[in-house]
Amino acid sequence: RAPLQPDTVAQAVAAAHRHFAGLREGKNADYIPYLASVPSDLYGVVAVAPDGGVAKAGDVGYAFSIQSICKVFNMALVLESIGPEALLRRVGSEATGLPFNSVMALEMHRGKPQNPLVNAGAIATVSLVPAASTEERWSRILGNMSRCAGRQLDVNDQVYHSEMDTNQRNRGIAWLLRAREFLEGDPDATVDLYTRACSVAVTTQDLGMMMGTLVRGGVNPATGERVFKTENVPRILSVMATAGLYDSTGSWMFRVGVPAKSGVGGGIIAGMPGRLALAAFSPPLDDFGNSVRAQAAIGEIAAATALNLFED
Ligand code: GLN
Repeated sequence: RAPLQPDTVAQAVAAAHRHFAGLREGKNADYIPYLASVPSDLYGVVAVAPDGGVAKAGDVGYAFSIQSICKVFNMALVLESIGPEALLRRVGSEATGLPFNSVMALEMHRGKPQNPLVNAGAIATVSLVPAASTEERWSRILGNMSRCAGRQLDVNDQVYHSEMDTNQRNRGIAWLLRAREFLEGDPDATVDLYTRACSVAVTTQDLGMMMGTLVRGGVNPATGERVFKTENVPRILSVMATAGLYDSTGSWMFRVGVPAKSGVGGGIIAGMPGRLALAAFSPPLDDFGNSVRAQAAIGEIAAATALNLFED
């Protein structure tokens, strides 16, 4: 693979923004009422190189809810805290082939959630963050995401309340996990923490830096702080490659070949270790819950910058 020049990356980012700003497919998520009110034409694209170089285009400073992308960083936090064996005893590393909030998936493996990037596994993962109290657990979760972003992040309260009013399904999943002993502690308190984590406000620039921390082997490319052990990065990327875009991950990997993670707020992160991190945001989603413009942008930039893992 030829080394990447900053100009190549900057041009690819600008072109992807230009090419897909007019794409009108998809629809904002509305099962969380707040998400339906976010302007649908917002569109931001960011690339972060392992040396900290940044390229950006569009609405990269607009703050939106991180949603499922937080699952990647909570998984990382638990890997750091209790190690891979302890995590894998409670949460698998398999694809579900089912929607992200599937209850059926839980019945397939005697109640064991398949992976940390679908709701069931993500809720179980939050319960595994070691802490003496709920608030201490929260401060570890938020602190971890903030270190990856390189700035103090916080919850968007409107998103949090909107989701807490409508997250009966996630509460059901948490109680099912508890019944099979795949969840530590109080299910309702755990769903509350999970929902707070999903409601954290980030910009596309923040997401670029968070993914940048993964492609830089666990070190934030801007602040230089080590957040994760390098050995945990491939573990995280492998689950992104099998489950990052839910039940369309296979076709994403077939087309683009880059580990990625989406959120129903409209964000997607993707990247190749040692080479480049990408983040894109635009609210309208496809039927699987993945941003249409963000997928198009990342797919095009990945091709222009040779990120496909399966290509020489
Ligand atoms: N907070 C959302 C939920 O639990 C996250 C889902 C997502 O982004 N796919 O339903």
